[in-house]
Amino acid sequence: MEKYLILDRDGVLIKDKGYVHKIKDLELLPGVVEGLQKFRDAGYKFIVISNQAGIARGLYTRRDAERFNNKLKAILASDGIVLEKFYYCEHHPDINGRCNCRKPATGLVTKAVEEFEINLSDACFIGDKDCDIELGKNCGGITVLIDSGQYPNSVQPDFKAKNLEHAFELLKNR
Ligand SMILES: [Mg+2]
Ligand SMILES: [Zn+2]
Repeated sequence: MEKYLILDRDGVLIKDKGYVHKIKDLELLPGVVEGLQKFRDAGYKFIVISNQAGIARGLYTRRDAERFNNKLKAILASDGIVLEKFYYCEHHPDINGRCNCRKPATGLVTKAVEEFEINLSDACFIGDKDCDIELGKNCGGITVLIDSGQYPNSVQPDFKAKNLEHAFELLKNR
């Protein structure tokens, strides 16, 4: 089985500017290209799982989100990095009630496991918020918090990293 990184998008791959959806606001974070290339060379594959409540809130459309994600995919592809698939939750509990796909709920991971050969106990969940770490724990995986300083952190991850390149250094010998 392949090894997988289950990546959050905002605050991990790109700068979290709040409900990012315009291509002009797409800004890769430092260490992303270098980090993903090192993970790739070590045999990892990449899935992105993101909460996109901006769709429920009417701030942007599903189409905007998909256009944005395709652009991010294309940028990384030019550096030889393949993002296998984006999964996103477009709901918000205040608007749609509870769904099974908003992180830390595991619905989107279940979907990914149906489509890819993912061994969850060997998967690394990388995110910048508690919900990302909780998701990883709910799935029995390894958790890495990218510590942006932007959000309070109260759930203890397995590792804390400055960026994805640092995350690779922490995970490479496990
Ligand atoms: Mg995030
Ligand atoms: Zn949802």
